[in-house]
Amino acid sequence: MRALPAEFASYRWAPSTAAIAAETGLDPVDILRFDGNVPAEPSPSARPGAIAAALATTNEYAHGGFPELTAAIAEYAEVGPENIVLGAGADDLILLCARAFAGPGDTVAIAESPTYPLFRIASLLAGAEIGEDRPSVTFCCRPNNPTGALGALPAARPLVVDEAYFEYAGETAVDLIDDGVVVLRTFSKAFGLAGARVGYVLASEETAAELNRRQAPMPISGISATLALAALRDRPDVSVQVEERERVAGALRELGLDPLDSRTNFLFVPVAEPGQLDEALRREGMVVRAFADGIRLSVRDREDDDLLLAALARSLDRPSPVPAAPSRRARHVRATAETRFRVRLALDGSGRVRVQTGAGIYDHFLEQLAFHAGFDLALEGVGDLETGPHHTAEDAALALGETLDRALGDRRGIARYGDAVVPMDDAVARAAVDLGGRPASEIDLALDPGLAEHVLRSLAQAGRLAINVESSGRDEHHIAEAAFKAVGRSLRAAVRSESDVLPSTKGRL
Ligand code: PMP
Repeated sequence: MRALPAEFASYRWAPSTAAIAAETGLDPVDILRFDGNVPAEPSPSARPGAIAAALATTNEYAHGGFPELTAAIAEYAEVGPENIVLGAGADDLILLCARAFAGPGDTVAIAESPTYPLFRIASLLAGAEIGEDRPSVTFCCRPNNPTGALGALPAARPLVVDEAYFEYAGETAVDLIDDGVVVLRTFSKAFGLAGARVGYVLASEETAAELNRRQAPMPISGISATLALAALRDRPDVSVQVEERERVAGALRELGLDPLDSRTNFLFVPVAEPGQLDEALRREGMVVRAFADGIRLSVRDREDDDLLLAALARSLDRPSPVPAAPSRRARHVRATAETRFRVRLALDGSGRVRVQTGAGIYDHFLEQLAFHAGFDLALEGVGDLETGPHHTAEDAALALGETLDRALGDRRGIARYGDAVVPMDDAVARAAVDLGGRPASEIDLALDPGLAEHVLRSLAQAGRLAINVESSGRDEHHIAEAAFKAVGRSLRAAVRSESDVLPSTKGRL
């Protein structure tokens, strides 16, 4: 092999979640990754049904490339299809640009430091040197990783601008593609598809054609192309993450830290002992990225970020800027051939609920149940809605039940029984629940909008509880909704923590 310069250091991955779980003794589901600069959830469009057709042709090459995806990207980026080059993530395209623009004897300039390490790696692999002197190409990361800053665009040409975080910052150099600028983008960040490995170049027609000539024949898989195409049908809305980033930045400042201004989905926080802090957080299952002079953390969502902020406060021995997390809580991932769900449940919550599965009214009913139980619940995921809401609604209820079972632990100290009467306009529901550990369901709904009874039965089965509920009225929606609310109110009473004894005369549940 051709020798690499002594200064070459290959890309260093963080350890896997399984390895961190083994090292810390924690359940992998409780390891929270704040180190990947990716959203906490996959794109809702990444569903088993979305790739079914692509699976049916996995024996074939994509003869003729991916014209549908190229056209959709062109529309999204407001360029022509002739301006696009596909790659297996922005990383693949950084490697492509480095070898296309530079080789042995050339110099590559890298606009900022610190910045994304792959510019250096790709340039050294291409045989070039890193420097400022008459560079054959300049790389620039905008907004920059790891600082999050949106710096000025360098005047150098040719210029490769890595816009991996474009959607968060909303600023682009795409208007300059006919002026020696090459833009790199990715589906890994705002679109939530890092595992699918899809990125693209936006360049002048001539440059794009040259890059395509030098690119691998089929750089992305048909399955990945299908996922990217599906993701493009709904433009990503990053406003929630941007708002959350600012909330976290404020809380970090309350902690006495000074996060840098960020235009991305992560924050760089200068600290004195990044390595020690990283270790302390990791022991609690919170994984951040340590640098020589600080840590970088990606924003997830309020509950997860609050866990990190509380852990940071403990590590720094300072008062926490956020309320203490409820203690009886559980996380769970449930994935089958038809559905995949991620659940986070706290029994002593404040009614912060979010159920997003695409199962229409059943999402709403489960939200009502959790809210009236006083839980905090995030139940997110998707199912094969192509066959109707049946699998999705059933599996969502099973996922919630399994998580409830986990959160209840050995059920020591709980009230065990609860009951409630809930009216809703023309309807009235009477419910009673028993958390004794034996699944049972007696569900009598005068009218059912479809799956209400089935969803409650699934919850009882997976949560190992008995649900008795009777609901009558004239409107099927009211009848079902009153039933879910009444079960929720009953659960609120039944999960109440009263003592530390097992709630059974038998001495076991
Ligand atoms: N560029 C920058 C600036 C990044 O932060 C990352 C991801 N860490 C990448 C490129 C790589 O993205 P992809 O997953 O598309 O290869």
